Amino acid sequence: MGVRLIIMGPPGVGKGTQGEFLAERFGVPRLSTGDMIRAALQAGTPLGERVRVYYEAGELVPDEVVLGLIAEAFDGSEASGGFVLDGFPRTVPQADGLGELLADRSIELDAVLSLEAPEEELVDRISGRRVCGACGLVTHVRAVGANAPCPECGAALAQRSDDRAETVRNRLAVYRAQTEPLLAYYARSETGLTAVDGTGTLEAVRDRLFETLHMAEVAG
Ligand SMILES: [Zn+2]
Repeated sequence: MGVRLIIMGPPGVGKGTQGEFLAERFGVPRLSTGDMIRAALQAGTPLGERVRVYYEAGELVPDEVVLGLIAEAFDGSEASGGFVLDGFPRTVPQADGLGELLADRSIELDAVLSLEAPEEELVDRISGRRVCGACGLVTHVRAVGANAPCPECGAALAQRSDDRAETVRNRLAVYRAQTEPLLAYYARSETGLTAVDGTGTLEAVRDRLFETLHMAEVAG
């Protein structure tokens, strides 16, 4: 028996990685709306062509189009046994749209997970990231030290402009403003909201997630 999960969390909390761990553990696909949009563009389906119009204009893909992609995934064979939905919803109107889509199909969510970590830890994780322009290695100043060259190839390491502390703080503020109403929305819902401590190593967070879901008797 698969599980039907939504995973939410701020930038830097490791949501994508943990979503993969959960998908693997329960043998269900991780439905990342970012990946689904890219796949639709490549596949050139009718929905994919609608995505392309917005994509090429540099505009956000509207909610109804993203919901269409999610509906396709729910109705296909891949997600019939469950899913880990990652990257959607991000707003209350999106959650309403998703709720309708689930109700139409009599699909019940097992859990809505919110990975949480203090802002300082998230800023530190992201702003400490360094990328090698030559070999593509991604590392962290904690691992290599400040101003160190690439440990793989000796080229210079750089910080992505998106990863600057100031930018990260802005991204986190945007996330909070957008997501706080959404967290309250799910806390009030029948499924409820399950907050999970996202601090510590990837493995520690993973084990915490597994334990939380087993305690909720989701594992079936
Ligand atoms: Zn390198």
